[in-house]
Formats: sequence, C-alpha cells, structure tokens
Amino acid sequence: MEFKNKVALITGGTSGIGFAVARKLAENDAKIVIVGRNIEKGEQALADLKQIHANIEFLSADVTKGKQVKDVVKQTLDRFGSLDLAFNNAANDEITPTPTHKFSEEDYDRLIDITLKSVWLSMKYELQIMNKQKSGVIVNTSSVDALLCSAGTAVYSAGKSGVIALSKSIAQEYGNLGIRVNTVSPGAIRTPLLEKKFENVPKEEALLLENKYRELNALGKIGSPDEAAEVVLWLLSNKSSYVTGQNIIADGGISFI
Ligand code: NAP
Repeated sequence: MEFKNKVALITGGTSGIGFAVARKLAENDAKIVIVGRNIEKGEQALADLKQIHANIEFLSADVTKGKQVKDVVKQTLDRFGSLDLAFNNAANDEITPTPTHKFSEEDYDRLIDITLKSVWLSMKYELQIMNKQKSGVIVNTSSVDALLCSAGTAVYSAGKSGVIALSKSIAQEYGNLGIRVNTVSPGAIRTPLLEKKFENVPKEEALLLENKYRELNALGKIGSPDEAAEVVLWLLSNKSSYVTGQNIIADGGISFI
C-alpha cells in the first residue's frame, strides 16, 4: 500500500514501459499524471487506466520544450497538491539510424533533445517542487545502448549515457534532502517503439532482427514492458530507500555477455 495517494508524474506514460509503470502504480492507488504528445493515444491510455483507478490525468505535451514541461509539472501540482514520484521516460525513434558522416546537425539536435534535454528539463521543474517538499523519488530511463555504444547508435547512446551522468550528479546534489535519483537501462523490450523497428524493414529482415535481439542476451528472449516496469517500481518504492545515483540494467544479460 506504500504508493496509496502518492502523486506520480510519468512522461511517456501513454505507451510501452511508461504505461506499464502507470498501470502498476494505478493498481497500487497512486495519483498519476501521464504525458505524451499524441492526444488520441493519451486518451485511450487514460481510459484504460481509469478502469483501474480514478485519480489519473493525461496531459498532452512535448517534453523537449521547457515551457510545456513547466506547465505539466505545474498542472500536476495544481491537480494533486504534491509531486512524490517522477518517471522521466519519454523518448521516440523518429530519427532513422544513419552513418555519422551523413547524420545531419538537425537530427543530432532532435535526438539529443528527446534523449537528454527532456530528462534534464523534467528534473529541473520536478526538483523545484521536491526541493520545497524536501522529499521525492526520480527514476530516469536510459538504455543498454548507453553501455554498449554499438555502431549506428552514436548519438542515441551519447544521449542515454548523458541521462546516467545527469542522474548521478543530481543524486549527489539533492541527496541531503532525502531525494533519490536513479536510472533504469532497459535492453530490448517489446513495446511499440521496438515493434516499429520490426515493421520498418521487410518481413524476413524483421525476423532476423528479432532473432538477433533474442540471441544477444543470456536469457534468450525479448523483455516485456512489465519486466522493465517492475525494476522501476522497485526504484520508486521505499524498498530501494538506500539506493541513489545508480543505473539498474534490465537487459536479459546483453551487457555482461
Ligand atoms: P514507446 O512505447 O514508443 O513509448 C514512448 C512514450 O514516449 C510514448 O508515450 C510517447 O508518446 C512518448 N513520447 C515520445 N516522444 C515524446 C515527446 N517529445 N514528448 C512527450 N512524450 C513523448 O517506447 P518505450 O519502448 O516504452 O520507450 C520508453 C523509454 O525506454 C524510452 O526512453 C526509450 O528510449 C527507452 N528504451 C526502450 C527500449 C525498448 O526496447 N523498448 C530499450 C531501451 C530503452 P507520444 O508519441 O504520443 O509523444
């Protein structure tokens, strides 16, 4: 019952890992704000979550834009009166992987904005409240790509590595107030983001890609959103009360093979 009436803000809560976390928090009677850009997707996610629990809002916003993030945090506070838990998780795959010598500056900016700046902006405004409250728990989503740094993922990997660095540094900055900041680094998790990678290539290639993801890790399978969400729930909960500045990897063992 530890999440009962706790106020949680989840960016990217309308789909995939963020939605799985929202569902688990809803099952535990938290008050939740989910954020995404697409209104139709957000309203659908909200309707699904409201079947579990009533105190849930959807806000449409682009988390790469400071003013919109500031508004989201303000509206969360206005609606529910505090901010106890934040899961800064939104990202997209709107940039096609491209060799570095052909990668445009505009795509670099867009990719760094969604992987890194969005997390910094979210924490900046969340911490204005948590700093006053002298309490709060933040979890940010990085990726196993931050550790693997494979060919073809240079800018994404750099952005996601930045999320780990930001989180560690900010964990030091606010630890004396009891505010904890950690990251989760998922491997291949079966969400719409991953499914889109399979859909964007011919069927045979998609099958090869899927098998490659399976073979890459020790457990030989693609993870489920729930498996990633369980790690996030633990980091958000008091069960991890002595854990801060850490990056927890949920990748089926890719990164230790
Ligand atoms: P997903 O199912 O595509 O969900 C992404 C969520 O982020 C959606 O709610 C999306 O809503 C939102 N979003 C995207 N861009 C946004 C923006 N600019 N402003 C506000 N919201 C935005 O993806 P997922 O797989 O759950 O990914 C969640 C996180 O896990 C991401 O940070 C991703 O990099 C990371 N990750 C995923 C995997 C994997 O295999 N799935 C592996 C490693 C790391 P809208 O599109 O409506 O905005």
